[in-house]
Amino acid sequence: MLQQTQVSRVLEKFEPFVERFPSIESLAAASEEAVLGAWSGLGYYRRARMLHGCAKAIVEHHDGVIPRDVGELMALPGIGRYTAGAMASMVFGMREPLVDGNVMRVLQRLHNNAGQQMDSTTIKWAWERAAGLVEASGDPGALNESLMELGATVCTPKRIGCDRCPLADRCEALKAGTTESVPPPKPRAKRRELFCASVLVMDDDGRVLFEQRPAEGLWGNMWQVPTIEGDDRPAPTPTAAEVGEGAELIESFVHQTTHRIVRFDVYRCDSWDIQDGQRFLSMDEIDSLGVSNAQRRILRIGDTLLS
Ligand code: SF4
Repeated sequence: MLQQTQVSRVLEKFEPFVERFPSIESLAAASEEAVLGAWSGLGYYRRARMLHGCAKAIVEHHDGVIPRDVGELMALPGIGRYTAGAMASMVFGMREPLVDGNVMRVLQRLHNNAGQQMDSTTIKWAWERAAGLVEASGDPGALNESLMELGATVCTPKRIGCDRCPLADRCEALKAGTTESVPPPKPRAKRRELFCASVLVMDDDGRVLFEQRPAEGLWGNMWQVPTIEGDDRPAPTPTAAEVGEGAELIESFVHQTTHRIVRFDVYRCDSWDIQDGQRFLSMDEIDSLGVSNAQRRILRIGDTLLS
């Protein structure tokens, strides 16, 4: 949950989540809809699907017990080399390295390695360095945690705290005066645009028309108000058949995800032909489903209309 999500937001969701799914077995036995519902509001729903798939695989292949071997951990859905290293070293005390962005920055500065962080040579070099350190360490879990923490709090990308760094006397970047340029800035990946026309349709009881997204792609299997979308520029101009007769544009906003800039036009429509898979849901029903933050914003727009 904490991966790319603020601690304050996770704190609201963590307890209810583990109360609802108190064991690997209960998570494995839950429907994807229930898991996405409990995750709702945290974003990055791929993590919830992976966690769910991981629980199922642990029940199916490991009798419900998390394996300790890094290779077996990495064979589980959603667990890569970093997470496997963190689990093996911090939870099971095994001599396994880990490299995340923070650790990589610390190692690069300690050795004044100015390689691009996305470069496979730099990644390989960092893992070898990290492996050497855990080999020499008396407590691999504490060592890994210390490197991560040093990178998160002292050896930060900007406003670097070299004056309070316990490794300052052995830091080559500090000696060379290159701490600001090592590691070099990442080239920015261009985010793709997506244009969405979403239609708010409400019945006399204040329920909202909803549909489920396809399983694949952005916000897979999550729920939304009827929405048409496309990559085309400019924004699609929906026809009456798509957004309903007499539909009125009520608000536009931009929502950003890791890889996408999603431009929403929100319409309101009073006469609508309900299509297969669409149904009116109350807010209580919607709260139990997986609904993206962008769709929650559309619901708030609908709330404002009613009040
Ligand atoms: S001395 Fe500065 S650059 Fe070197 S590891 Fe410490 S905080 Fe990072």
